[in-house]
Amino acid sequence: MKQEKIFGNWINGQLVHSGSQHFSTFNPILDQPISGRFIEATTEEVNYAAESASSVFFEFSKLSGDRRAEFLERIAFEIEALGDDLIQTYCNETGLPEGRARGERGRTLGQLKIFADEARSGSWQKPSIDLPAPDRLPLPKADIRKVMLPLGPVAVFGASNFPLAYSTAGGDTASALAVGCPVIVKSHPMHAGTSFMVASAIVKAAHCTNMPNGVFAHLNSMDHRVGQQLAKHPLIKAIGFTGSEKGGRALFDLASQRKEPIPVFAEMGSVNPVVVFPEKLELQKDQLVQELSDSIMLGTGQFCTSPGLIFGIDGVLWKSFCFHLGNSLAQRATQSMIHPNLKQAYNHLKDERMQYAELTSLCSISEVNGANQVGQTLLQMNGEDFINNPDFQQEVFGPFAIMVSCKDWEELERAISCLKGNLTGTIMATEESISSRPSLVEKLQNKVGRMIFNQVPTGVEVCASMQHGGPYPASTDSRFTAVGHDALLRWVRPVSFQNFPEMMLPTALQTKNSLCLDQRIN
Ligand code: NAP
Repeated sequence: MKQEKIFGNWINGQLVHSGSQHFSTFNPILDQPISGRFIEATTEEVNYAAESASSVFFEFSKLSGDRRAEFLERIAFEIEALGDDLIQTYCNETGLPEGRARGERGRTLGQLKIFADEARSGSWQKPSIDLPAPDRLPLPKADIRKVMLPLGPVAVFGASNFPLAYSTAGGDTASALAVGCPVIVKSHPMHAGTSFMVASAIVKAAHCTNMPNGVFAHLNSMDHRVGQQLAKHPLIKAIGFTGSEKGGRALFDLASQRKEPIPVFAEMGSVNPVVVFPEKLELQKDQLVQELSDSIMLGTGQFCTSPGLIFGIDGVLWKSFCFHLGNSLAQRATQSMIHPNLKQAYNHLKDERMQYAELTSLCSISEVNGANQVGQTLLQMNGEDFINNPDFQQEVFGPFAIMVSCKDWEELERAISCLKGNLTGTIMATEESISSRPSLVEKLQNKVGRMIFNQVPTGVEVCASMQHGGPYPASTDSRFTAVGHDALLRWVRPVSFQNFPEMMLPTALQTKNSLCLDQRIN
């Protein structure tokens, strides 16, 4: 009989699996478990990972940017070398199509290369030098220099819906390694196999580029225990999280209650409000129906940028738009969720919403063609009811949206003012019509991290100008982004050096400027 494969935990460059608890992943299309046992990390193994990471922190952070860049580039190389096995494991564990898996892998490799470039350039260190003025009166001025330094070991938690780009070697891991922080990944139980393969690639890359062993660890876990132990561990100095508001908030609270609180950069769910102007509907109603219907259904709605609230001014045109969007969604084939748990959560939240008297249905599909498929849902309500109850702002993760019909612009702007924080805010309008509503734009931009004009919110470009994060509950710290070059700023802190001898200063602050950085002087 063929023996079931055992997957251990990567700690200090070795595979360990002393625990007795194990779990398997699940194929949502075939509706059956996937062969293979993931051995849950024990309490001792979590400690071992944290101690190993902490013990190599100084060594790793002092390596040159070139060395860390080589490491990141090698990770990209090793992930690519996993070839179609990785794609197949990804598809088996998520039910997502091959094209999506390949696209996400491309994005992950691209992110690793961006952070390799950042490590090499060293510009994230932001050196600032104030030269001394010994003759200044009434008091002399000292030599003061400031630079960004890494925080220490970072624990990373990825989301179920991005097994590559927001997971094991995703943006959090790549950006933390780029600035010299060792990383411990708490693997996502729904794509543990994909995560294990990527982790093995990282360990191989660390070995090939002579990194210290403790620079990376990967821990299996099927419940919250391992994650919570990491969040509370005194040797962990920051947390990167992508997932639900509930999960992010739980880790944030744990980290704040520690003897030494640490920063938690949690990127969480969002309902991504869209405001549709009547002038836009007059010109492009059918096109908008198509675009929004596509966006709501993309990845079975399992995107943090999925449009969940669509606002407009009530009238014949708006009613027709709502009707046609409902029809368009109703005509689409139902799709599978990534995991039975997510299907259950979707159906539960959707059914809960349908109980509200304030909501009526424009599209509610109950017949599905696969075990883990869900029915897309479009509901509608009026602006005043929306304003009076924050429940309607809770994310329903899946193909779900609410049309909010406002009686006039005053009500619509009040509804926007009531919004909680979101990742994105979209305005569908003509240039002329948007320019007549500056206060609406201001109110919306106050609530989101990314403003979009006449494009759907799904799709996040990885570039230096991207902001992926918004006011709470979109993220726990709206000053930072999880996507793009600036994501690495989450893992560094400023340190000043006063009156220090040149040779004892960090290289970035030395007057000879051997790294050729853009030093801000005086
Ligand atoms: P999730 O259930 O919150 O899980 C994310 C990770 O956190 C998992 O590793 C989970 O592992 C852990 N976790 C959850 N609750 C925890 C707790 N109380 N204590 C300790 N660890 C905990 O999220 P998901 O279902 O995987 O992902 C879907 C969500 O992610 C959606 O809300 C989506 O909008 C959001 N998302 C956000 C972004 C963004 O960039 N803002 C991107 C993608 C997805 P265990 O279950 O093993 O504990």
